[in-house]
Amino acid sequence: MNKTKTIATIGPASQDEEILEQLISNGVDLVRFNMNYADHDFCLEIIKKIKNIDTKLKRHTSIIVDLGGPSIRVGKLIGNQAYLIKGSKIRIYIEDLVGDNTKFSINYPNLINEVKFNMTIKMSDGAVELKVIDKQYNYLLCEVIKEGTICSNQKLNIPDIKLNLPFLNEKDKNDIIFADKIKADYLALSFVSSAEDVLQVNDLLIELNNDNIGILAKVENEDAYLEIDEIIKVSEGILIARGDLGISVALERVPGIQKAIISKCHKAGKLSIVATELLSSMEKENRPTRAEVSDVANAVLDGADAVVLCGETTIGKHPVETLIMMEKIMRSAEEDINYLDLLDKATRSEKQDITGVLSHSIVDCANRLKCKAIVVPTMSGLTAKRISRFRPSCPIIAISPNLETIGQLSLYFGIKAVLIDDLNTFDRIIKEAIKIASEEVNLNKGDKIIITGEYPFKKVKHTNFLKVEEI
Ligand code: PEP
Repeated sequence: MNKTKTIATIGPASQDEEILEQLISNGVDLVRFNMNYADHDFCLEIIKKIKNIDTKLKRHTSIIVDLGGPSIRVGKLIGNQAYLIKGSKIRIYIEDLVGDNTKFSINYPNLINEVKFNMTIKMSDGAVELKVIDKQYNYLLCEVIKEGTICSNQKLNIPDIKLNLPFLNEKDKNDIIFADKIKADYLALSFVSSAEDVLQVNDLLIELNNDNIGILAKVENEDAYLEIDEIIKVSEGILIARGDLGISVALERVPGIQKAIISKCHKAGKLSIVATELLSSMEKENRPTRAEVSDVANAVLDGADAVVLCGETTIGKHPVETLIMMEKIMRSAEEDINYLDLLDKATRSEKQDITGVLSHSIVDCANRLKCKAIVVPTMSGLTAKRISRFRPSCPIIAISPNLETIGQLSLYFGIKAVLIDDLNTFDRIIKEAIKIASEEVNLNKGDKIIITGEYPFKKVKHTNFLKVEEI
């Protein structure tokens, strides 16, 4: 059981039930729908398949709906993609048309006024570059500087201009309503630039009476990074979207920003998630580069809660092999984590409330007694989340009858969330905890586990019991 969680973005390469089952049975904890490409019918079809797989495998796979956010998008292309050749000219129209390798349309008419001659337009996560060489009333004429493939609906990034777009458009609002309807576990917000953006979504969720969905703010430009402390405060976690981030800021700054965000999130007790190009050479090849292996391992060693496979599982040739490789690298890196250092860092900034102080003691106790697991019977997930922050070296097994809690906890480092029927009397809880622990980890005579939580459920709002069980 890996402690670092894996999110797979679903696309053509992973939409078949057989592939989905292989991904889930080999370690995918959450699936991500990128709403730029996935329409509601596609999501519903995948969810149906996932439900079948979860029933068969007796597990729960959580869902992240990732909103498109304020961005300039390419219109429809013939065959949904086009190869732009270096040196060729391409027209970008503000009127709707079906594009090819000489022209395409965009959804942002102001672009003609806002760009200047010689400005660079980046596409395909920066792999394709265009230079603006002329402007007409209804199109921009550009020269292809870096050639490559572009796709329908993909983003255009122009690092030198600030878009004049509302944070949420009508499609995003519809997608939030959809996420509420399908009971998604997390909403990822693209192109957040302030805490107000996150609060706007929070207000919408309050209107929808939804207090279960977790909000992940995606950091993908300089504005978000400048406001990171405020954004962390109002979000459940931060998704470091290195694709767009690496276009908005100089590529060489991305590793430093990644490390700083992981550390800030850890100090604040919030989730940190690293996305994009972790094993991208495996989109084509059947093994990763050494640099990619290092990249995945470093995300784990720095203390990220989760990693995201993007192109690798949406359009890659080897989605399952890539996932298996990812899990292998993470498993090995987890052996090298300096758990004491992570515990120490979290301790210095933990709130001195009852749950905080007890969670710290529980992890210290579990590490020193070399416990095989910390089992947390929980309704809200609170104790399990606080324990996860202290990064115990053993797994945290959260047991709950609440499906929303299970869905949320599956993104937290080190937590294996298990759905149970109910949590009734204290004696039954202890028996159930021992039974589930022995199913999840290999327990031998003399092994120790810790059972901890809040009891009676719903009546107390902080951790109030701790039991060490020797098998
Ligand atoms: C990214 O930019 O790295 C990212 C994960 O976002 P998206 O998939 O929306 O491009």
